[in-house]
Amino acid sequence: QCPWGAPNTTSISCSLADVMSEQLAKELQLEEENTAFPEVVAVAEGPFITGENADTSSDLMLAQMLQMEFDREYDAQLRREEKKINGDSKVSISFENYRKVHPYDSDSSEDEVDWQDTRHDPYRADKPTTTPRRGFIGKGKDITTKHDEVVCGRKNTARMENFAPEFQVGDGIGMDLKLSNQVFNALKQHAYSEERRSARLHEKKEHSTAEKAVDPKTRLLLYKMVNAGMLETITGCISTGKESVVFHAYGGKSATEDKVMPPECAIKVFKTTLNEFKNRDKYIKDDYRFKDRFSKLNPRKIIRMWAEKEMHNLTRMQNAGIPCPQVVILKKHVLVMSFIGQDQVPAPKLKDVTLSSEDMKKAYYQTLNMMQQLYKECNLVHADLSEYNMLWHDGKVWLIDVSQSVEPTHPHGLEFLFRDCRNVSQFFQKGGVAEALNERELFNAVSGFNITADNEVDFQAEIEALEKMNEDHVQNHGKKLSMFSSDGDPPIYDE
Ligand code: ADP
Ligand code: MN
Repeated sequence: QCPWGAPNTTSISCSLADVMSEQLAKELQLEEENTAFPEVVAVAEGPFITGENADTSSDLMLAQMLQMEFDREYDAQLRREEKKINGDSKVSISFENYRKVHPYDSDSSEDEVDWQDTRHDPYRADKPTTTPRRGFIGKGKDITTKHDEVVCGRKNTARMENFAPEFQVGDGIGMDLKLSNQVFNALKQHAYSEERRSARLHEKKEHSTAEKAVDPKTRLLLYKMVNAGMLETITGCISTGKESVVFHAYGGKSATEDKVMPPECAIKVFKTTLNEFKNRDKYIKDDYRFKDRFSKLNPRKIIRMWAEKEMHNLTRMQNAGIPCPQVVILKKHVLVMSFIGQDQVPAPKLKDVTLSSEDMKKAYYQTLNMMQQLYKECNLVHADLSEYNMLWHDGKVWLIDVSQSVEPTHPHGLEFLFRDCRNVSQFFQKGGVAEALNERELFNAVSGFNITADNEVDFQAEIEALEKMNEDHVQNHGKKLSMFSSDGDPPIYDE
């Protein structure tokens, strides 16, 4: 016999019904408490609500949190010294470069949604607001032109959104602020030099923490997911791009909100420190789905919007049955989805596999099909479609990387589509698929347009003309009457 005594294994026999009813009882109790003490229950719901109700059951997490606290205190001390040195002096010295926590790492999480609803697509029904194109508004002596000081000032304010994400513009964009040209230009100059300085600074920082790949905040966030049992382990990094870092993880057992975790997950972390997103401005700046929100958000939130956008686009694709990663959960700038691949090995990109000519042909027809589905059923244009963002898995092509995807009626949507078509067409033609349509035929086949131009230049000119026509329609009549219909019917010309 074991000296420690036999373990007490007398199992309490208990039927499924008992368990069920116990759960039911718990639920009922929770519900009751909820009405009686709403705020108490809110804290008890789980470790993810705020950073304050910290779960301290893990040493690593505790250590990370202490480190964060230490860094903040260090920064506070730095600020005090900065103040002491500068005093009332007109010329001041900044210790900014010595700070541990970059202003954008220090999060004010009070105003944030935590776990995002993966089903509701807030971009769907939005309609653009029409602004007159005449260059003036009003009548008689109340007429205002675009040179009007007030109008101009407001425009300048709105243009601040083009500044780098790091540039703090405060609430300026959201409120009715009028910047004179002189002030705006000075700000712009400052924003640019600040951007260059910040890029240099971050380059250093990024290098020093290359193996860690993400900032402490994000690491903590990932760690919380593991701690909550949502993920089993995060095994390593699959890819580090300019805009994102992708990790592999094994799914945990805990299923939150009726969600079952996939056995293997891919975690896409959108980078919050780099400026690359600015280059993608054109994808969202003109996207009417974002018009209302864009101006009211701070830079950090704009980067989160990329993650959000990827989530909603993936959901649309999933609903249409297009092979793509399934969204698991979105938290701030971190998107967890199902892993395409097996045993930690990601499925190869189409550019990296050698397919038999039969598979190549199969892949081509599937891609053509998916592009049509994407356009007609999801009302989306991938906008970065190429052999780099198509994975070969399970004998078929999977589409990934859709954060930049836009609706076809986006002011540049058709140009993006044409670029996609060119990539796809060239890839499969080079790959020896004799049936592969050329880029112009593919464009027509996907969009349902019938552009007859037989050379690239004319074709592109027609595409741009179509876009412009649509823009004018949107300006004059609102989205409803635009020549693209959003419910999947072939486009109608109504000129
Ligand atoms: P980026 O914007 O950096 O290109 P991607 O979404 O294309 O981001 O992801 C980068 C790489 O990570 C992909 O090329 C692919 O190899 C891998 N990857 C991304 N998502 C998944 C996934 N769900 N399953 C497997 N691998 C993935
Ligand atoms: Mn990619």
